[in-house]
Amino acid sequence: MEHQNEQYMSTLESRPGLGERQRSLLPQRSAISKGKYTLHDFQILRTLGTGSFGRVHLVRSVHNGRYYAIKVLKKQQVIKMKQIEHTNDERRMLKLVDHPFLIRMWGTFQDSRNLFMVMDYIEGGELFSLLRKSQRFPNPVAKFFAAEVILALEYLHAHDIIYRDLKPENILLDRNGHIKITDFGFAKEVDTVTWTLCGTPDYIAPEVIATKPYNKSVDWWSLGILIFEMLAGFTPFYDTTPMKTYEKILQGKVTYPPFFHADVVDLLVKLITSDLTRRLGNLQSGAKDVKSHPWFSEVIWEKLLAKDIETPYEPPITAGVGDSSLFDQYPEEHLDYGCQGEDPYAQYFIEF
Ligand code: AMP
Repeated sequence: MEHQNEQYMSTLESRPGLGERQRSLLPQRSAISKGKYTLHDFQILRTLGTGSFGRVHLVRSVHNGRYYAIKVLKKQQVIKMKQIEHTNDERRMLKLVDHPFLIRMWGTFQDSRNLFMVMDYIEGGELFSLLRKSQRFPNPVAKFFAAEVILALEYLHAHDIIYRDLKPENILLDRNGHIKITDFGFAKEVDTVTWTLCGTPDYIAPEVIATKPYNKSVDWWSLGILIFEMLAGFTPFYDTTPMKTYEKILQGKVTYPPFFHADVVDLLVKLITSDLTRRLGNLQSGAKDVKSHPWFSEVIWEKLLAKDIETPYEPPITAGVGDSSLFDQYPEEHLDYGCQGEDPYAQYFIEF
């Protein structure tokens, strides 16, 4: 269990306005990596995304020519932002999970300054980019993505994992248009309750802001926000600062655009409710209640899980395997990867 105020999440930044986002040198063999990979196994190509503690690179295996994504976290930054426990949790969760809609991690390693996680490269880009480009999704498209997210949440919750950071930036699309949830930086194995204030302002549940104990309920709230954003093109509690957003979340007043289908309004009212005894997904039958809601009546869940359903959108991956044109460009910086020498933080990351 975590304790209140023990870890204040640094990623609680305001999201920028709609439409924007916040957003070699090859090394000596690391003496401290005990995993099966080292930096020598990969050629680093370009940056796919950045986070608060490091960046994610597209890389190519020098052995089999396959593409992977490597997430790099700067140890010093992780420590400064009090994320040691979350980083070790992220590694443990990613090693554990095995689901068609969750990112797969192949291994980890470290040098004296950085932590590395080797994952499958998901070529289709972020759902976030597609949504901003499309402004909003038609009902069936939003429903398709929501349904795949529900299967992923159902799996995680069945393994007592709360995801805690559901948002379109963390949902990638594979080459066929199926989702892969990435970034387990806030995922937590919890069989009772937890308190940490974390997530992204627009998506945070009221019980988290009010620093009440919470559990899987927070992911169902975020699912409601995600469905709303996919259909409307904006989040229901959007405001210019996190504080104003939190106030709106605590007030809990949602205005549903008139073009929302009555079924989805019914679903969202039941997800975006601060009453935990009534929030769909958080009741006795868990995810089943969400899956059997009328808005999802035409979804054949078994087929969806088997990916035996045509996807509504196929990412235009024109340059073939390893294409990264669907990702935003980030300025590349000098990389200090592969440093050997003294590692004052070694004791914090022994699992890597
Ligand atoms: P993260 O810090 O895990 O949220 O990753 C930051 C960004 O890097 C994501 O929002 C994606 O755009 C990109 N990214 C992360 N993991 C992958 C992956 N496995 N394949 C492709 N892009 C990724």
